[in-house]
Amino acid sequence: MASYYAGLFGNEEPHFLESCSLCRKPLGLKSDIYMYRGDTAFCSEDCRQEQIESDEAKERSRKKSARSLRKSAESKDSASGKNVRTGTLVVA
Ligand SMILES: [Zn+2]
Repeated sequence: MASYYAGLFGNEEPHFLESCSLCRKPLGLKSDIYMYRGDTAFCSEDCRQEQIESDEAKERSRKKSARSLRKSAESKDSASGKNVRTGTLVVA
């Protein structure tokens, strides 16, 4: 069964989409998923916002270099589109 689904989707589901990065709530196939930075999934806008705010606070403290890393990660992931699935996908 597992191999059948792996073939169906082309590649394995990345584990980061299985649960909210903040509160660890499982993300179902049909639930809304809120993406942040292209590789972090959240169950709600509130959870994502909390992560964004904590990241921004961190970035403010280390300023340089972090900004360019963030930009390249975002453009790479939005171009591939491989994170799209049945739920509503909201990209920060
Ligand atoms: Zn959450």
